[in-house]
Amino acid sequence: MADKDEHASPKKRWLVIGGGVMGLKIADDLAGKGQDVTIAEAAPRFGGLTSAWQLGDVSWDRFYHVTLLSDSVLRKQLQSLGLERELRWVETKTGFFAGGKLMSMSNTLEFLRFPPLSLFQRVRLGGTIFLASKIRDFRKMEQQSVESWLRRWSGNGAFDKVWLPLLKAKLGDAYRQTSAAFIWAHTQRMYKARRSGAKKEMFGYVPGGYARILDVWTNRLAERGVRLLSGHGVNSVRKTDDAGSGRLEVDFGAGRVETFDNVVSTIASPLIADQCEQLRDEEKSKLRAIKYLGVVCASMLLKKPISPYYVTNITDTWVPLTGIIEMSTIVDSQSQLGGHHLVYLPKYMTDDHPDLAEPDEDYKQRCLETLERMYDHFSRDDVLEFKVARAKYVAALSTIDYSTRLPPVVTSVPGFYALNSAHILEGNLNVNETLALGEQKLREEVWPDFLAREQVPTRPMMVG
Ligand SMILES: Cc1cc2nc3c(=O)[nH]c(=O)nc-3n(C[C@H](O)[C@H](O)[C@H](O)COP(=O)(O)OP(=O)(O)OC[C@H]3O[C@@H](n4cnc5c(N)ncnc54)[C@H](O)[C@@H]3O)c2cc1C
Repeated sequence: MADKDEHASPKKRWLVIGGGVMGLKIADDLAGKGQDVTIAEAAPRFGGLTSAWQLGDVSWDRFYHVTLLSDSVLRKQLQSLGLERELRWVETKTGFFAGGKLMSMSNTLEFLRFPPLSLFQRVRLGGTIFLASKIRDFRKMEQQSVESWLRRWSGNGAFDKVWLPLLKAKLGDAYRQTSAAFIWAHTQRMYKARRSGAKKEMFGYVPGGYARILDVWTNRLAERGVRLLSGHGVNSVRKTDDAGSGRLEVDFGAGRVETFDNVVSTIASPLIADQCEQLRDEEKSKLRAIKYLGVVCASMLLKKPISPYYVTNITDTWVPLTGIIEMSTIVDSQSQLGGHHLVYLPKYMTDDHPDLAEPDEDYKQRCLETLERMYDHFSRDDVLEFKVARAKYVAALSTIDYSTRLPPVVTSVPGFYALNSAHILEGNLNVNETLALGEQKLREEVWPDFLAREQVPTRPMMVG
């Protein structure tokens, strides 16, 4: 459905670069405003980090994804696609592997009994989490490192035994460059995720996984007149002022060039710097200065489950993995996974880490040897499929004073907008935050700039 602005604004040609959820959201909202929209994705299929792949007969997300009850923007999006009512909600359990033992840490009582810590250390740890949940101003948190903030409130004992392994699990060695805004955002999200009364953690998924969401969404976009180009990487974007048209010339490679009135690039910041040569040097350096977290993540299909925990956090330093995600504790094995069990084995690291290029077979052997040491009942004979996915640009690292060093969304090249998940400030990367950011930045920055350039008086924008 078109919104009110359609009648007030001229219909122009827009290109959205990147077919992840951010690109799809921007394309959807622009189509809703009556614009002529093309979306170009370099990969053979849409979805970016949410896209699926095949594990034997099973098709599921390459990287693990769950939805939280509090993911209101994502749920609204699913509702508009007719999928929200299909969400299945499951109570989750969290495990901890510490001192060679696997234990549950799924509720407050279990947390208070956590053996590696003294009573005093547990109280300080609980107090730190509570404090992080109460802080409202993330800017104070981003001015200090996550390590110094946690050591200050939890003490060195709890930091070394609990926080350090958890930080390494989520960030690898990049935790050293990360601000306390990271732990703040994480705590806020987890607090929201617990239902107020029962205080239970519920995670949801749509049957068929993200592949189904993406299928319905891309079909809907096509019905709304959006031109969807997969397998179309954009090499460069150039303003053609010298030719007098003032439009943007887009090079798709292999001699294919098209012109657009506006371009929104949703790809990783350092790639945007390379994409548009006419950006000012200062903008390019800001884009290139954004450090990213990368991930190597194996998907393993098993005959048997390995634990009852969705997440198993690992505090023992000999374990090379940074966590174990047992997706089939949430996703129904019989109806979704061919009766098998799906486990993800992620390892996060900075985007320049040499291990991002570790050969699949080496990673596989390390994972299997580790699991055999961790679980008596685990046998590699139970592994039906094992595939390794990797991504260099997962999430921008929230470094000290990050928000003050961000490049602008409205760039110095008229009609070229740089809008990606690096602009998430008050949360960690997830689909809900990504969609919320896309909606907000389009409404508050991109669209008003477009109207100003077209000399149309700005009116409040209705999205969606
Ligand atoms: C291991 C892992 C676990 C996660 N778990 C969860 C979870 O449980 N819940 C949750 O909500 N979120 C989760 N997320 C986060 C979620 O996947 C992201 O928030 C979201 O997918 C980001 O979307 P995006 O469009 O910003 O980026 P991307 O998905 O990275 O999309 C960018 C797209 O641009 C394309 N591209 C790059 N260069 C070009 C070019 N030159 N031309 C054209 N296209 C180009 C890429 O191919 C890609 O498709 C997880 C992510 C990872 C990696």
